[in-house]
Amino acid sequence: MKNKLIIANWKCNPTKAKEGEKILNDIKKNLNTKNKVVICPPVIFLSQYFDLFSSFFSFGVQDLHYKEKGPYTGEISPKMAQDVGCKYAIIGHSERRTILKETDQEINLKLQQIITTTKITPILCIGESGEERKAKKTNLIIKKQLDLSLRNIPKDKAEKIVIAYEPIWAIGTGVVATEEEISEAKDNIVKILCDIYGNKTASQIKIIYGGSVDANNIASILNTGMDGVLVGGASLKPKDFSMIANCK
Ligand code: PEP
Repeated sequence: MKNKLIIANWKCNPTKAKEGEKILNDIKKNLNTKNKVVICPPVIFLSQYFDLFSSFFSFGVQDLHYKEKGPYTGEISPKMAQDVGCKYAIIGHSERRTILKETDQEINLKLQQIITTTKITPILCIGESGEERKAKKTNLIIKKQLDLSLRNIPKDKAEKIVIAYEPIWAIGTGVVATEEEISEAKDNIVKILCDIYGNKTASQIKIIYGGSVDANNIASILNTGMDGVLVGGASLKPKDFSMIANCK
């Protein structure tokens, strides 16, 4: 069994650095795995956690800017994230697409900046809304998101990108996609990647699932052949997250 990629997206939680430290300590105590476990905390706490826990976890950011540096108040560039030890960056999360109106074109610029200026692994989030699924547009939406986000990303860089299939209707709702729905989306993603990059490159790109993953459903999700999971809510619950992280 290949080692899995288990990513914690803490979003805008917790409000105190010490609380996060306790969560990481509690996860660490129960960790017993060869899986790659990546923590994406609020960026303001990142250096502090990196200093304390970098021998147990890898670290990532929840977003990055598409410019290297300059007059972009509030933004963080890929080079800055790399400088404080980040190895991963979540890009195009649905909360940023819906709340902040981030477009596929901006997401593409972010990916380009990351791959040209750093060694950070981008985790590209894609997925359809509930209405899009009901209208049977899932495959179409996934294709559009991949085509636009990966535009001008060459094969040798694309190999490194992780695709996170996160149906919006499953995020934070407690409604997890069925094994059948996950497998169908995975097959569709592989087909699109083969069309863009050819079979060899497509086979190297990791595809993971996100959306209401918990300790009870992790086994069936991984049964679909997904290379790992992106976990929101359950990643802040140490007992649950260590069970997810320890999965085989
Ligand atoms: C997410 O925000 O990427 C996510 C998957 O959240 P949750 O696990 O809470 O559904």
